[in-house]
Amino acid sequence: MDTIKNNRINGGTPHENVVSHSKAAELFIRDEPRTDWHDETLWFVREKRDRAVQQVPEWEQLRELGSQIKDHTLSNLDNYLMAFEKNAQANGVKVHWAADAAQHNEIILQIIREGNVQRVVKSKSMLTEECHLNNFLIERGIEVVDTDLGERIVQFRNEPPSHIVLPAIHLKKQDVSQTFHQHLGTEKGNNDPQYLTEAARQHLRDKFIKSQLAITGINFAVAETGGFVVCTNEGNADMGAHAAAIHIACMGIEKIIPKAEHLSVFLRLLTRSATGQPITTYSSHFHKPRNGQQMHIVIVDNGRTKQLGRPDFRNSLKCIRCAACFNTCPVYRRSGGHSYHTAVAGPIGSILNPNLDMKANADLPFASTLCGSCTNVCPVKIDIHQQLWKWRQVLTEEGYTATGKKIAMNGMAFVLSHPAVYRLTGKIGRWVMRMFPFVTNNKIFNPWYKQREMPVAPKQSFRDWYIKNKK
Ligand code: SF4
Repeated sequence: MDTIKNNRINGGTPHENVVSHSKAAELFIRDEPRTDWHDETLWFVREKRDRAVQQVPEWEQLRELGSQIKDHTLSNLDNYLMAFEKNAQANGVKVHWAADAAQHNEIILQIIREGNVQRVVKSKSMLTEECHLNNFLIERGIEVVDTDLGERIVQFRNEPPSHIVLPAIHLKKQDVSQTFHQHLGTEKGNNDPQYLTEAARQHLRDKFIKSQLAITGINFAVAETGGFVVCTNEGNADMGAHAAAIHIACMGIEKIIPKAEHLSVFLRLLTRSATGQPITTYSSHFHKPRNGQQMHIVIVDNGRTKQLGRPDFRNSLKCIRCAACFNTCPVYRRSGGHSYHTAVAGPIGSILNPNLDMKANADLPFASTLCGSCTNVCPVKIDIHQQLWKWRQVLTEEGYTATGKKIAMNGMAFVLSHPAVYRLTGKIGRWVMRMFPFVTNNKIFNPWYKQREMPVAPKQSFRDWYIKNKK
C-alpha cells in the first residue's frame, strides 16, 4: 500500500522531512480501489450518523445546548478547572498540571518510575498521540501496549492512527490478517474477522493481566464532582484501569464540563455523531481510586490557552472528538488520515494544528473544499469551514503561503474582479482548449488534469448564450 506511515510533526521528525498534505494525498490516491473503498466506508459511517440523528426529534436543540454549555465553560475555564482539581483531590486523586507535551510526558514517566513499572497498557487517547507519549516511553525502556483493537493494529505496523475514532480505517481485513500473522502467529491468509478478533482478545487479555499501570484518556471531566467519563466500545479502558495498581488519566483543559447533568447532553451527541450508535458501549464513570490503587489525572494545556486567546478560533476548543467532520469531509475521505501530518487529522485538526505551529501546518487549512458539510454535522456547532477559511487569511498575512499559490490567487482575484478581463480570459481559455488540447490535457501544464477528465470546451460562454436567448 502506498502511504506515508510516519508523516508526523513534533514526533522527532524535523519539519523539512514532513510531507505536505497534497503530496501525501497524491501517494494515497495512487491506489484507486483503496481510495474508493476508504471514501465509501467513511460515507457509510456518515449515513449511519444521519439515521441515528433522525431518531432524535430534538437533535437541533441538543446541538444548541451542547454548544452553549461549551461556550459557557470556555468563558469560565479557570474556575471550572480549579473546582475540578479541588473535588478530584477530595476524592483521593492526585492532580498534575502540564503546560506542554514535554511536561505531560515527564509527569507520566515520573509516576512510572516511582511505581517501579515496566509494563503499561493504554486505551485510546488522542492527547497522548498529540504528545507522542508512546515513543517517549518506549525509548526509555517501558513496554507500552495500546489496547484499543484498531490502535493495537496500527501499533504493530508502526503507524500512527489515521482517524481519531476508527484508528485503522485505512486498512482492510487482509492487511490486519497479514499483520496478526506476523505479530501474533495467526494462520496465514485467514481473514475471518471473528478469528482475528479472538486472537487479539487473547493477546490483549494477557497484557491486561500483566500490566502494572493503565493510561486512559478522558472524554468528559465533571467540575462539580471531580469525576470523569471514559467512552469506549471495547471496554478496554475499564479492563486496564481495573486490573492495574496505578491509573493515569490524561485530559486537555477543554474536556471539562460544569455539572454531571450535562453528561446527558454530551453522551447523546457524541456517539450518534461518531458511529451512529445511540450510546457508546461503555461510558464508564471514574471518581476515586479503589482501595490500594493510585489514581492520577494529568491536565494538559499544550497550546490550548493560546487558541482560547484567538477570538476567531476559540470555538474549536468546543470539540468533543466525535470525528463526524472527518467522515463527511470529501477531502479527508479521499486523501486518508496519514496525509495530515498531525495527531488529529481532518477538518478540526486543520484548525487546531496551525495554532501549535503555523509554519509546519500551513498547508492544512487549504486541504478543504470549504463545502461546509463539516459545520453541518458538528454536534457542538463549531463553524469549522469558516475557521478554515479564516486560517487561510491569517497564514497568508503571516507569510506562510507558498509563493506560487499567492501569485495564482492574486491573479485570480484580479480576473474575477474585472468582468471584461474575465470574459476575455474565458474566451482565450475555450480557444486554447479547442485548438491546443495537448496544453490543457497535460499533467505537467495542467495539474488539475491528473485526476480528472477535461470537459469539452463550449463554443460560447453562458453569458453569451443568455444574451442571445433571453426573451
Ligand atoms: S469539530 Fe465537531 S464534528 Fe469535528 S470532531 Fe469535533 S465535535 Fe466532532
